[in-house]
Amino acid sequence: TEKSLVLVKPDGYRRGLSGEVLRRIEAKGYVPVALAVVTPTHEQLAEHYAEHEGKPFYEPLIEFMSSGPVTAIVIQGERCIEGFRALAGATDPTAALPGTIRGDLGRDWGLKVQQNIVHGSDSPESAAREIGIWFPNL
Ligand code: ATP
Repeated sequence: TEKSLVLVKPDGYRRGLSGEVLRRIEAKGYVPVALAVVTPTHEQLAEHYAEHEGKPFYEPLIEFMSSGPVTAIVIQGERCIEGFRALAGATDPTAALPGTIRGDLGRDWGLKVQQNIVHGSDSPESAAREIGIWFPNL
């Protein structure tokens, strides 16, 4: 079955929402197969966000993501890549629908980066690449 890489970003970790995110993942029927709390390095983040290099929010995004610990989780389950993105909701926490992680818990801080609690892989290729970045021994 499919695997996806989920990050509880520094805003979510700081607010104590790692458990709530994990609860929703498990309630949906996805299985956590690896879990770690890590403070990301700039190198890890540059790899993780390579596709966004050069965009206006890139530098602030790297700063935000390296500002504290994140909870990295590899989840497994049938169509869990698409499924977790549905659980997460839209990128913009104000636009994200109620019922989603970002819609229920995300706040619009009016900053240069959307502090939107979670990341989830967007394709099987990204999932494989991202799992390699966060769990090189998996
Ligand atoms: P993620 O990949 O983190 O699950 P996403 O797929 O919804 O989120 P991406 O377009 O991949 O969003 O952007 C990655 C992250 O960069 C977003 O989650 C958000 O934190 C930030 N971001 C994206 N677009 C913007 C923007 N226009 N302004 C500010 N921050 C942004």
